[in-house]
Amino acid sequence: MRILLIGPPGSGKGTQADRIQNRLGIPHISSGDMLREAVTNKTPLGVEAEKYMSHGALVPDELVIGIINNRIRKPDAQEGFLLDGFPRTLPQAQALRQALVASNLQLDKVVRLMVPDDQIIGRITGRRIDPVTRQIYHIEFNPPTPEIAQRVIQRQDDTAETLRKRLAKFHADTCPILDYYHKLGLVIEVNGVGDVQQIEDSIIAAINA
Ligand code: AMP
Repeated sequence: MRILLIGPPGSGKGTQADRIQNRLGIPHISSGDMLREAVTNKTPLGVEAEKYMSHGALVPDELVIGIINNRIRKPDAQEGFLLDGFPRTLPQAQALRQALVASNLQLDKVVRLMVPDDQIIGRITGRRIDPVTRQIYHIEFNPPTPEIAQRVIQRQDDTAETLRKRLAKFHADTCPILDYYHKLGLVIEVNGVGDVQQIEDSIIAAINA
């Protein structure tokens, strides 16, 4: 199964992708996580990417396409993958299609997680990440244990101001790629508001339909 998970920042993509990875036994590949790791490790890619990420802009296509193409060639992704955060632009979508076609492969489904913008602000500003396990928490809806609470961090780009830019960017850049996948008949829409387990079950049902 080769699946894309598309949704605005704060739609629960990362949380759901981790759960679906476990259910389907395919790796969750997050372009945002890979970029943040490069930033933390101060690799040349990370140093370049940070200039864009720190103010909510998209990292240039050629950088992101390179890391994703390398990642989906790894042995653990040969039976499938769940891509989260990529593609974000039409050139990225086209590059992914080319890379798959070159290996005689194709995408199976594009899952669009639907969450209205007005719900997203509260979700994002309360989001915290455990730097040890990468587990995602929310200070109100999914609080960490007191022990983990001492070490959780807030992402640098999870502020209301940066979020507004990221949401505007999401709508401007990602909507055309949804059209692209609609034309290929791959898009399934899933309601991303409500109970986390129910959303996971809806995604699995939609993928298997
Ligand atoms: P995310 O964790 O998916 O919200 O991504 C965090 C940040 O990483 C984004 O705001 C972008 O700056 C960058 N990023 C992640 N994925 C991509 C992508 N596919 N194309 C360009 N920039 C990306």
